[in-house]
Amino acid sequence: MTNNPYTIYSVWLKERYGEKVYKIPVNIPVTCPNRDGVKGRGGCIYCGEKGGGNETLSDQLPVSVQIERNIAYIGKRYNAKKFIPYFQSFSNTYCEFSDFKKWIQESIRPDVVEISISTRPDCITDEQLKYLEVIKKEHAIEVTIELGLQSVNDKTLTIINRGHTLADYEEAMDRIKQAHLLTCTHMILDLPWDAEEDVINGAKVVSQKGTDFVKCHSLYIEKNTVLKQWYDQKKLTLLTKDDYITRAILFLEYLAPEIVIQRLIGRVPKEDSVITNWNTSWWKIKDELDARMKQENNYQGRKFAGMNNKR
Ligand code: SF4
Repeated sequence: MTNNPYTIYSVWLKERYGEKVYKIPVNIPVTCPNRDGVKGRGGCIYCGEKGGGNETLSDQLPVSVQIERNIAYIGKRYNAKKFIPYFQSFSNTYCEFSDFKKWIQESIRPDVVEISISTRPDCITDEQLKYLEVIKKEHAIEVTIELGLQSVNDKTLTIINRGHTLADYEEAMDRIKQAHLLTCTHMILDLPWDAEEDVINGAKVVSQKGTDFVKCHSLYIEKNTVLKQWYDQKKLTLLTKDDYITRAILFLEYLAPEIVIQRLIGRVPKEDSVITNWNTSWWKIKDELDARMKQENNYQGRKFAGMNNKR
């Protein structure tokens, strides 16, 4: 390990796979049960037209072609030889099982070491999990399920219209672990309806449930969203950059030390957003956070009290 104050994903990837590994976005024609009425209508208050996916090719292109094109570009640019297809936009398990299997099969190639699938905690079937467990064994690749949780406070989950509860997340994590797949949990650390206590509880919950990775980001406002309306109507007081950094450090302090940090601050293209990261580049915020942690001799897991940690 390095002397970084937290476990860095790129370092973990290099140790795990022996060289640099690149994630490549894959876009499939799915939507989300929280948008079409099955779980809810309208989606999460911050969800934009792309459903959390950026820099993707058309979902009308076959998965194999998207991967081929992205690998040709990224492979050449970074001299990369190993890849992780990342099913990113909307809920990538919200589809017919036959389509799901076809898309997964299309993403398997000799230079693919892992497949990453982003979805909701209430939207993954046992059939899909069993299938992925078999794929993992047969092809000797890793499979990661990325779950959006965002907050562990059920009241906040209702306000942001997530359409699922903390219990849904906990149940999904148990089933994914039983299928021996890796898990990544997505959290928004500066939801104005969450107190710092909720952020601490968030770190404790994801540690107890055994997430392998976390991705954290700030609340950004995209065009054409409910959140944008609330912002315009002055129904919302956003937290400051300093608040975000304080909360991110708190989260890391209470997080189990072995959990790998895939992201500490989000990146949204400027054209899609109204307010993102206080109009500061993500790497400047990350540098500020790193500097503060080093200055305070702080590190991931400093206040982690083990898996029996009460919340
Ligand atoms: S679960 Fe994801 S895709 Fe669905 S509405 Fe929420 S942010 Fe959008």
